[in-house]
Amino acid sequence: MKPAVRTNIDCHTDLAARYSQVCSAIGAARKRISRPEGCVTLVAVSKTRSADEVRAVASLGQRDFGENQVQEAVDKIHLLADIALSWHFIGTIQSNKCRDIAANFDWVHSIDRFKIARRLSQMRPQSRGPLNLFLQVNLQEEQTKSGVTADNLEDLANSVLTLPHVRLCGLMAIPKPTTDFDTQRRVFRRLSELQDHLRSKGLPLDCLSMGMTDDMDAAIAEGATHVRIGTAIFGPRQ
Ligand SMILES: *Cc1c(COP(=O)(O)O)cnc(C)c1O
Repeated sequence: MKPAVRTNIDCHTDLAARYSQVCSAIGAARKRISRPEGCVTLVAVSKTRSADEVRAVASLGQRDFGENQVQEAVDKIHLLADIALSWHFIGTIQSNKCRDIAANFDWVHSIDRFKIARRLSQMRPQSRGPLNLFLQVNLQEEQTKSGVTADNLEDLANSVLTLPHVRLCGLMAIPKPTTDFDTQRRVFRRLSELQDHLRSKGLPLDCLSMGMTDDMDAAIAEGATHVRIGTAIFGPRQ
């Protein structure tokens, strides 16, 4: 009789197979446009996954993990403190969570207000070095989505640059879902152009956080340095 519940070993094998597929897909997308090895960091989005699942992916060599709920993340970070991992916060940020984010994370991808960036800088423990920040841009001006508009981006970037305990590293976006590759590319190109524009004004931005499970290839083609992948690694979320 077949077991009704899959064993841990099966799950782990699936995870390893999916993880290796994602790494190959990143390599293939990168080579397609002759970008150098190591230019794309895979952020494994482990929101809703257990610390054991994160540990299993870490054992395959993965180091960067992304979370969008502070308490859930902090619990996992403590459970996994014996492994040297980099933690990326990718969710909406409430003021009262800034202390926990500043103390526990290495990167924050979702900055869209100066007030939050300033709090994170104030609360960053000096022993940890500057917190790396991405500004989240609302590229398609969606009412329901967070992110700074393209019009307000330069002012926000200049303000964040004055903060002492954060490092402004680049821009991030979450486009509207579409399966059309050319549309995906066009939207990501817009983020890349905004980044080029800021660089032309002397702002030292070198990272672009864009691309999820369903639009990773288009993002890498347009210059993503950080792709945030959950489903393709861990399977569908509940
Ligand atoms: C959940 C999430 C992801 C990962 O999405 P998948 O489609 O599962 O790869 C990436 N970025 C953000 C901001 C997310 O919230």
